Amino acid sequence: MTARQPLALGNWKMNGDMVANEQLMSGLLESSAGLLSAGGLQAGFAVPAPYLFQAAVRLKGTGFLWGAQDCSDQPKGAFTGEVSTAMLQDFEVNFCLVGHSERRARHQETDAQIAAKLQALLSANILPVLCVGESLAQREAGQAAEVVCGQVKAALKGLSADQLTRLAVAYEPIWAIGTGKTASADDAQAMHAQIRGALAGLHPQVANQVRILYGGSVKASNSQELFAQPDIDGGLVGGASLDMADMSGILQAAHQRAGRLGLL
Ligand code: PEP
Repeated sequence: MTARQPLALGNWKMNGDMVANEQLMSGLLESSAGLLSAGGLQAGFAVPAPYLFQAAVRLKGTGFLWGAQDCSDQPKGAFTGEVSTAMLQDFEVNFCLVGHSERRARHQETDAQIAAKLQALLSANILPVLCVGESLAQREAGQAAEVVCGQVKAALKGLSADQLTRLAVAYEPIWAIGTGKTASADDAQAMHAQIRGALAGLHPQVANQVRILYGGSVKASNSQELFAQPDIDGGLVGGASLDMADMSGILQAAHQRAGRLGLL
C-alpha cells in the first residue's frame, strides 16, 4: 500500500486583509517552503473568496496550495452571493472545504446540498475536503460515531471508487472548534478509524487511500501527538493558521510524519 501523503490546511475563515495576508504568506513561505520542496507533504490555505486572486498570485509555483471555504452547488445564474466551481477554477483553486460545521449551523446546509457541492467540485477537478463532526451534546449522548459516520455516508454515497480517492475528509468535533479544547489523540484516532470503516463500507478497495484530517484547536504544541496516530493524515487548522509561528510548527509536525512514512 502506498503511504498517504500528509496534508496540513489552514482555514482562515473570515479573517485577513491584503496586508495581513501578504505578511502571513510571505512569512510561511520563508519558514516552510523548504519543507514542501521535498514533496513528502502538502500544505495550503483556505482563504476568503475575495482573496483567491491574491493567494493564487502569491502561492503559484511555491508548492503551497490555495483553496476556498465553500462553493455553490449550481453552475451559474440567479444565486446572489454564491461562487461557482468554474469561478474557483479561474483562480486555479486546488481544494475547497465542504460542509464546515459553521456553514451547517449558520446557513442550515443539508447533507443533500453538501453532496451536491462535493459532486460539483469533483467535476471541476478541485479536491473537496468534506468536514464532519459531532456536537458536545451528541458526544455526551454516546452518538458521536453514528452522527459522524452518518454525515460521511450521506455526503459520499453514490460516488465511484475513483471519486472517493479524489477527496479528503476532515473530522472536526464541533466542541473543539475555536474553543481551545482538542480531542485527545486517542479519541481522535478512534474516530478516524471509524470514518475509515465507513469509507470501507462504500468502497473497501480504496478506503485506505483517503486522507482523513483532524481539525479542532490544532496548534503547534499538540500537532506532533495528533499526527503520530496511524489514521490522522494531517490537520485542518483554524485559529492557529493565522499565526505564522504556530502554523510553521504544525507544518513541521506534518513533515515529520512524512518522514516516518518514508515519503521524504
Ligand atoms: C476550523 O474551523 O476548521 C478549525 C479547526 O478551527 P480551530 O482550529 O480554530 O478550532
